[in-house]
Amino acid sequence: MTELLAAIRSFIDERALPLESAFLSLPYSEVEPRLNELREEVKRRGLWAPHLPAELGGRGLTLTEFAHVSALLGETPIGHYLFNAQPPDIGNCELLHSHGSVEQKAVWLEPLARGEIRSCFAMTEPEFAGSNPVWMAATARRDGDDYVIDGHKWFTSSADGAAFTIVMAVTRPDAKPHERASQIIVPMDAPGLTLVRNIPVMGDTGSGHASHGELRFEGVRAPVANRIGAEGAGFALAQERLGPGRVHHCMRWLGICERAFRLMCQHAVRRELSPGHPLGEQQAVQHWIAESRAEIDAARLLVLDTAQQIEARGAHAARDRISLIKFHVAGVLQRVLDRAVQVHGALGMTDYTPLAFWYRHERGARIYDGPDEVHKSAVARRILKGFGLKRS
Ligand SMILES: Cc1cc2nc3c(=O)[nH]c(=O)nc-3n(C[C@H](O)[C@H](O)[C@H](O)COP(=O)(O)OP(=O)(O)OC[C@H]3O[C@@H](n4cnc5c(N)ncnc54)[C@H](O)[C@@H]3O)c2cc1C
Repeated sequence: MTELLAAIRSFIDERALPLESAFLSLPYSEVEPRLNELREEVKRRGLWAPHLPAELGGRGLTLTEFAHVSALLGETPIGHYLFNAQPPDIGNCELLHSHGSVEQKAVWLEPLARGEIRSCFAMTEPEFAGSNPVWMAATARRDGDDYVIDGHKWFTSSADGAAFTIVMAVTRPDAKPHERASQIIVPMDAPGLTLVRNIPVMGDTGSGHASHGELRFEGVRAPVANRIGAEGAGFALAQERLGPGRVHHCMRWLGICERAFRLMCQHAVRRELSPGHPLGEQQAVQHWIAESRAEIDAARLLVLDTAQQIEARGAHAARDRISLIKFHVAGVLQRVLDRAVQVHGALGMTDYTPLAFWYRHERGARIYDGPDEVHKSAVARRILKGFGLKRS
């Protein structure tokens, strides 16, 4: 593991970081060929998709082992993509690997694992609160051997250029709320499926993998064989995906924190307020640095411990810890990024460092995969239940 981490560290420092400023300043389509060259190099070095099992071309790392890798990759906005470990493909790979049929694996999972195609996951709808994942309007109606899908989705990350989406749609409207929806694979070029637009996120619309799409499904036909798992199992599968997925996100965020911390310290030492007096002499800056170090280190231990608990007891048993890390680390990320931007002054607002990119795009960390408030209430309710609270 030490050797693997060292090899990834040197690839990130020597090969990925030099491409970062192009990624931050040019349209995605212009940078994509260079990103893809580097992806081939990652493969040649035997570092490809370390989270995937060996039969899919990966290194078969455990969740805890991959957590360490994810923190390294998170230090640059292009890290996870270069190693084919980027969301949402990583979650879709895990889902298909655990629950895909033989045919789904051959047609969709294997090319995804090889990095030949990309994918997306369409669950959230603009008209319905995403915080209530069992409430949605999208339907998939049986017609012979097909489903006919109608629905409106948004914030479908990386839909632009994806080969397929996994859509969540109601297939059993009369079942209990948690058993109504199914997950169905739909090729992005299916008639009736439209990528309406990429959604502007804090002024940045993005494109390709670095974008969030709005999708319309109008009478889209998909074979019943494209359903993943049992009819009505969509919600349960989504929950299963989110357990390890939150560890991945949290470690990626800690990678961002580490880089922001390093940039903050470097700038504090380099930037002089007057000749011979660097910013780092200021007590306010010193406190931000110390607070950030403490918060990052504590968060890392919490996340690694959660990964171990998931491995030892399963995601359901570890669900409180998963909720704790989700909101706690998102808060650490926001605070560390904010301090780093502040220390950089006007430079922090530019795209000459990755800070502003992360500031824009990772504000969503407190919203996606369950807003902070939902996780806090879920944990607190279970804690209070132990103290006798009946319901809330
Ligand atoms: C960058 C980004 C990427 C995303 N990628 C995807 C994707 O790939 N696929 C996909 O399907 N979706 C994706 N989403 C959507 C995401 O899953 C939803 O935004 C999320 O589930 C919240 O739903 P909502 O936006 O409808 O907010 P709402 O549910 O409308 O909630 C609004 C706010 O209300 C508050 N709130 C909600 N519930 C409670 C509660 N129980 N108690 C107290 N306060 C509450 C919270 O502050 C919350 O932020 C993405 C979102 C972002 C920002």
